[in-house]
Amino acid sequence: MRVGLYPINIGQLASMVGGKLIRGNPQLPVRQVYFIDPNRKLSQQLKKLHQEPSASVVIPEGTILGIATEHALITAPNPKVGLWKLLQWQRSRSQATFIGITGSSGKTTTKEMIAEILKRKFRTLKSKDNQNVAGTIHHHLLRLDPRDEAVVLEMGMSDLGNIRRQCQIAKPSIGVVTCVKEAHVGSLGSSLQNVVRAKQELVDGVPPKGMLILNADDAGIRKLNTLHRRKLTYGIKNHAVFQAKEVRYTPSGMSFNVRNASYQIPTWGIHNVYNALAAITTGYLLKVPVKDMQMALQSFPLPKMRLQKIVGQKNRLLINDAYNANPTSMIAGLEVLRNVAGRRHHVAILGDMHELGALSESGHRNVGSFVAKTKPSFLVTVGTMAAHIARAAFAAGYPKSRILTIANRPLAIAKFLHTKMPPGSVFYFKASRKMKLEDIVRPLQADV
Ligand code: ATP
Ligand code: MG
Repeated sequence: MRVGLYPINIGQLASMVGGKLIRGNPQLPVRQVYFIDPNRKLSQQLKKLHQEPSASVVIPEGTILGIATEHALITAPNPKVGLWKLLQWQRSRSQATFIGITGSSGKTTTKEMIAEILKRKFRTLKSKDNQNVAGTIHHHLLRLDPRDEAVVLEMGMSDLGNIRRQCQIAKPSIGVVTCVKEAHVGSLGSSLQNVVRAKQELVDGVPPKGMLILNADDAGIRKLNTLHRRKLTYGIKNHAVFQAKEVRYTPSGMSFNVRNASYQIPTWGIHNVYNALAAITTGYLLKVPVKDMQMALQSFPLPKMRLQKIVGQKNRLLINDAYNANPTSMIAGLEVLRNVAGRRHHVAILGDMHELGALSESGHRNVGSFVAKTKPSFLVTVGTMAAHIARAAFAAGYPKSRILTIANRPLAIAKFLHTKMPPGSVFYFKASRKMKLEDIVRPLQADV
């Protein structure tokens, strides 16, 4: 675990983590640090250690390693506390601008867009993949390099207090909130109020001199207490400091204008225009030239399984959006499906949405009503909760003959789609992560 440690020697490391050096030369510089986790299997951790011969190892007091090792060894009463002290020290030395991103949806996408923009002007570190909780923040911050000028962190919330803990370490001076909706209410109880409280932790974690970047069109964000705080807003509908105009679908993504500059992004959906607006606002704040922002957004790395376009057999287009789902994002996806041009047959394959708590049935039903409004050519619902989508769609006038309600049997569903849906169709896949709709997508992919 490491890499970009600020220069310290092994003796300093021992005192920083509140431990005792029991082996090794205190004057030698620290190259890597490995913290033994008492809650994980020791043998596996030792195996990893062998691959990192130059690491200094911090072990909990009283642990018997049971092997001879060449590593510098430090015993500490609580390595976890030691790790946090080390991170705090690293953070205190860093001159970088730290940016925290939270929101019910769009965090990873926005993080990728912001990092791509900032990369053009600053040496930038971004959090990896989708790791976004307090328990994983050390993975990013131990990579912090003294030369880093910007650090972009996705901040999720598995429970109340989680974002607060992340802010205590990261001390962001810029806080971005993408939207505040009923996502993840399962883990936070069934009230939107708790989601608002969780997101408030980022607002409170940014110092008054810092800047908040907020979506002006999101009703949930208006419930945050941002009084007397410096803020920049972005939006499409309501008046915002950074307003997108002439928002359009293109064959490969979206195009829009902000302050008379035109932008293209390689992915569909109004929600992705919002994510791009958050990134453009951050770029303006940090004075990244418009030309660089335009280029960065044109080619930012698309996170997998978020509206991922795949070529299917029989000239079909498969849109894999099944990374996760909640009613808002599923409705946003149906809107995308409606806007895919040049395809006569539009098929929605929608699976169960988890973690909705008491709002589960109504959430699925709301999606069903939207299906009746946007009228895809065919609807497949996958799983027991998703059957509510089918029922609500039918109740709102969507024809039964265009609905298949089915349990999660990926091969049977793939076979149905393959044989029954016309060539050239577009398929849109959306469900919670655990539904693994990619198992339906895979057999439909073309051999390319
Ligand atoms: P997670 O909570 O799993 O980390 P996330 O907040 O990082 O999710 P993304 O991974 O960027 O979000 O996107 C996940 C899905 O959310 C996308 O597939 C899309 O359907 C939807 N989505 C993305 N951005 C927005 C947005 N700004 N508003 C609403 N929905 C969005
Ligand atoms: Mg994410």
